[in-house]
Amino acid sequence: MRLTVIGCTGSMSGPDAAASSYLVQAEGPGADGAERTWSVILDLGPGAMGQMLNHVDPRDIDAIAVSHLHADHMVDLIGMQVYRRWHPDGPLPPVDVVGTPGGMERTRAVGGDGEDEDYADVLTFRDLTPGTPFTVGPLTIDVFPAWHPVPAFGIRVTGPSDDDSARRVTLGYTGDTDTCEGIEQMADGLDLLLSEAAFQEDRDTVRGIHLTGRRAGALAAGGRVGRLVLTHIQPWTDKQRVADEAAEEFDGPIDLAVPGATWAI
Ligand SMILES: [Zn+2]
Repeated sequence: MRLTVIGCTGSMSGPDAAASSYLVQAEGPGADGAERTWSVILDLGPGAMGQMLNHVDPRDIDAIAVSHLHADHMVDLIGMQVYRRWHPDGPLPPVDVVGTPGGMERTRAVGGDGEDEDYADVLTFRDLTPGTPFTVGPLTIDVFPAWHPVPAFGIRVTGPSDDDSARRVTLGYTGDTDTCEGIEQMADGLDLLLSEAAFQEDRDTVRGIHLTGRRAGALAAGGRVGRLVLTHIQPWTDKQRVADEAAEEFDGPIDLAVPGATWAI
C-alpha cells in the first residue's frame, strides 16, 4: 500500500499546495483475476483535482472517500464530475464517492445545480457507517466518528504491504477532528497515521474542531502508531513549530506532508 500527498494545506489551498487530498494505492487482482493497481482518493479539496492529474488518471480511480463535507475537503468533486462527464474521448465510468451522508446534495450545492441533478452517470454517492467496512479491491475502508462541527469521519485503510502482499498493513487519516474516542480507536495499531494538525498550542484554544501538533503527537504516542505524518497545516502557521509540538509527545518518526511525498507501507 502506498500513500501519496496530492494536496495538504489546511482549510484552504496554499502557496505550496492544494487543499486536502491524498492518494492510496495497492496492487491486487482485478475483475479478470489479473493483478492491477487499485486507487482510492481521500478527500478532494480546492485545487486538488488539477494536482491529482500529476499522480493518477481519473479513469483509474476506484473510489473517492470523503472525510466530511466542509468545502476544503470536497469542492473539487465538481471538477471530477465535469472531467468524467465531458471528457472529449467520451464519458468516464461512474466512481464511488463514499463518506458522511448528504454528499450528493452538498456537491449539488457547490455546483449550483438544480434538484434534478444527481450525478448518477459519473459519481455514485454512498453513505458509510462506522462498523460497516467498505471494500475496494484489496483495500478495506473503515470509518470512525470524529469530533468536528459537522458530521465527520476518520478513515482507516487496510491493505497489502508494499513489499509483502501477504501482510496486511494499515493507514489512518484523521480528516478534521479534535481528540475523541472514535479517532483514538482508529489510530490504534496503525502503521502510518496521517494526522491533521491545524491548530497551534497556546494560540488556538477552541475545542471540538482540530488537533494541535501536540494532540496529534499524543494520538500517535504510546506505541499506537509506527509513523506520524502531519498535514492540514494552514498557510499562516509555522510547520516546524507544529512538528516540534508533536515530537514532544511522540518519539517515533514524524514527517510533514508536502505535495508529491509518497510512503510505501
Ligand atoms: Zn472541516
